[in-house]
Amino acid sequence: MGLTFLAVHAHPDDEASSTGGLYRLLADEGVRTVLVTCTNGECGDASDGAKPDADHHDGDEVAKVRAVELDNAVKILGIDRLVRLGYRDSGMKGWPQNDDPDSFWATPVPEAAKRLAAILLEERPQVVVTYNAHGFYGHPDHIQAHRVTLAAFDLLDYEPTLYFNAVPNSIMAMMNARWEQAERDRAAADAEKGIVRAPEPEDPDDERVDMGTPDELIDAVIDVSRVNEAKYDALAAHHSQIADSFWMKMGRDEFKKQMRTEWFVRVTNPMNLSGSVNDIFAGYR
Ligand SMILES: [Zn+2]
Repeated sequence: MGLTFLAVHAHPDDEASSTGGLYRLLADEGVRTVLVTCTNGECGDASDGAKPDADHHDGDEVAKVRAVELDNAVKILGIDRLVRLGYRDSGMKGWPQNDDPDSFWATPVPEAAKRLAAILLEERPQVVVTYNAHGFYGHPDHIQAHRVTLAAFDLLDYEPTLYFNAVPNSIMAMMNARWEQAERDRAAADAEKGIVRAPEPEDPDDERVDMGTPDELIDAVIDVSRVNEAKYDALAAHHSQIADSFWMKMGRDEFKKQMRTEWFVRVTNPMNLSGSVNDIFAGYR
């Protein structure tokens, strides 16, 4: 039987940011690749940069733009099959969109799990990737993708190897330093122009999510340097969301130098692997 890989992602663009290199690498190796995208991304930025709380922000329009962007990224990454579950984007924690009955967050986990399990049973991927219990960074749709994936596993007649995407603490520290420097540069540039920005109000309910994973707990270290040009292009395909991101600001050359690795933590281990691997299909070939 051939090898099949499937990732469960929350929004259009997540496939590129956390698994873009892996997808392209596996496609080049002839592995069948499947992407399940849970929401349409209605709470993303509009094409003119408008945020979802702006009066003229139209979630349905945003979703249309993002659907095309996702199709383009899927082509660039060589993904064989894209399944859109079609739930509405739930927005960040505490947003009114959380309560929309059509939102992914408001959807009962067993209901979505049944749909995902049907896809898993049809494709029978040996390896599945999604997010950890806090959705990597706390977004409700990412948390829901985690819950739905685990619930779907309970409905299967076999056990795939499940990985969560991760970033080692050592790399997270480096990225944080980069973000903070960019913030300081922006503040300095603003100050020169006489612009003073009010600090972002602190939300007392905001629990800071620790996005890093201790380096020694990383189970799969995938070298994606051969394909990170395609990863960059796939990110760039999500133009309405990403044009302003730190990846795009990095530029193609710097991106190629810096973004050479994707990391994962193993959650189920039917092949009894031990230690860290550099092939996501370790044990299957
Ligand atoms: Zn997302």
